[in-house]
Parts: sequence; C-alpha cells; structure tokens
Amino acid sequence: MKALVYHGPGKKSLDERPMPQLASATDAIVKVTRTTICGTDLHILKGDVPTCEPSRILGHEGVGIVHQVGTAVSSLKEGDHVLISCISSCGKCEYCRRGMYSHCTTGGWILGNRIDGTQAEYVRIPHAETSLYPIPAGADEEALVMLSDILPTGFECGVLNGKVQPGSTVAIVGAGPIGLASLLTAQFYSPAQIIMIDRDAHRLEAASRFGATACIDSRMSEPVAALMKLTGGVGVDCAIEAVGVPETFELCEALIAPGGVIANVGVHGVKADLHLESLWDRNISITTRLVDTVSTPMLLKTVRSGRLDPASLITHRFQFEDVLNAYETFGRAADSHALKVIIEMP
Ligand SMILES: [Zn+2]
Ligand SMILES: [Zn+2]
Repeated sequence: MKALVYHGPGKKSLDERPMPQLASATDAIVKVTRTTICGTDLHILKGDVPTCEPSRILGHEGVGIVHQVGTAVSSLKEGDHVLISCISSCGKCEYCRRGMYSHCTTGGWILGNRIDGTQAEYVRIPHAETSLYPIPAGADEEALVMLSDILPTGFECGVLNGKVQPGSTVAIVGAGPIGLASLLTAQFYSPAQIIMIDRDAHRLEAASRFGATACIDSRMSEPVAALMKLTGGVGVDCAIEAVGVPETFELCEALIAPGGVIANVGVHGVKADLHLESLWDRNISITTRLVDTVSTPMLLKTVRSGRLDPASLITHRFQFEDVLNAYETFGRAADSHALKVIIEMP
C-alpha cells in the first residue's frame, strides 16, 4: 500500500509499505477513505515531536471502512463505516474511567506519532471498539473528518475548559482551523461576544462568516487596546489561545477580565512568561488540555442534525497520489488560504 512516511525533520515521502496486520485481539484494520493534514503534522516535520520517530506513517484524522477485526472486537465488523478518533482509548484504565482518554495508559495520542497513522491506504487501530465511531448512513464523510481532531479539540480544550457561558465575552487568539473550531462550538452557548484575533485578513474574513462578532487584525491595530475598546475596558471572560507561541499566550494574559479563564489549546514548544505581577489578584484560571474526544458522540449528533457545519472549514481537496502537493498547500496557508485540506484515498 501507499503511505506518507516521515523520515526525520524536514523529510517525508510517499512510499510503498506493507499492509498493517492485527497485533492484538482488540485491534481493527481500517481502509482509509478520507484523511487530512493537521498543524500537528507540520510540528512533527519541524522536529518538535520527539516521540514520532523516522519511518513513521503520519496522520491521526480520517474516516474509513472496517477491513478486518481482532477476535475480541464484537461491536464492529468488516464493512462498517467509521470515524477514526485522533485519541486511542482502552476504556478500562484509570484515566479512561475518568473520561481522560488523552492519557490512556495504553493509548492517548499514538496514531501518526508512536504508531503508524492514517495517511495511508490502511491503518491499524488499537482498542478499536472504543477508538472508532460508527458513521450514520447518509452522513457527509468529508464533514466528519473534522470530528477526528479539530472539532473536539476546539470544543473541549477551548470552549469547555474556558467555561463559555450564555452572555459571556470570548476572545479567540488564532483563526486557524482549531481557532475556527472553537468559534463554531462556542456558539452552542450563545456568548454575547466572540472576538477573533489573528494577523491574516483572509482567516479573519472566514471568522466573520462563521459567527465572530468582531475581528481584530493584530498587524493593523494594537490588539489589547482594540479589545478593551470592544469590552468596555474590562477584557474578556474567556481567552482561548489557539496558536502555541509565547506572544499569543501572553496576549491572552493581557486580555483576561477579573474572574476569567485562559484556556490554552496551542501546542507550545518553548516557555511563555506568566505575568503574576499583574494577575495575582484577578481571580483568573489557566487551563491546559490534550483533547480527550469525550465530546465526539455529541458532536456527531450536532453535525447530523445540521446544528454544526464543519464542512465549511474545508478549502482544498487532493487525491492521495498528490499528498505532497497537499502538504505544500497546507504549509503555506497564508498564500494558499488553506484551512483544512481533504485527501481522498484511492
Ligand atoms: Zn490533528
Ligand atoms: Zn485507557
């Protein structure tokens, strides 16, 4: 089969690889029908993720058809249409029993990281019964690829951790796919204001279409002053950090209102400063989280009922033989205006 393989920092290629085999009775082999590229894959290619070793097949998002199941798998069978979660979970360990699947002792984020991933014709999924979700008949496959990672991530790490409430004020720093996923799912709670901050006018334009009440282009205006003007000088109840660099985290510290929550979503590679000299008396909270994907069944229902339209995040489509071109397009998003790219498998 063909697979997109990581060969160390800056190196990847479309290679011929053997078919994955069942390694445990609880595994399934899934024939991937659609996958996508994540900002996290770009982090791996930069060499930021040491757990991902050379010769790893990348990818942790996708939908497919069950090809083969292990002897202990009873709730899935060959031919079932499934959504692949970016988080694998056994459902039995202490963390899984607490709903913290991201820290499953034999799972978590392993796909396209510690084990081969979804940017291939076939993928082995461990703990198949608790890591795959049956797709209802007639559902839009492309839209559901957004449920493997970005929608649960934007919702759980941003909106739930950020305690978005009816009538509250929200700032989302970063209008990439994850920031936009937070924007879409924050609207479940009817906050009074959702202010998007980015330095890419095209992404802010998308944010306006997706429901932002105001947008701040941080290249054009000083974002703290602009946001204070929009919030009567008090700041926001929830600041969602969806970039992963020190500047954007420190910006959230400057934007937060007394009693507010800074919900970090971004993947950080270097330290950021914590300004306790200005925050110590402001009753704020700071949260971090790796997505648990506990909200995936709920999000599937909202997509199915039309309350949520994740397909709006898809800007480009490629065939798998063109996957290097897909990486190139996704990697230069400022010029290509790419949000999410869909890769169709043969
Ligand atoms: Zn991802
Ligand atoms: Zn577990």
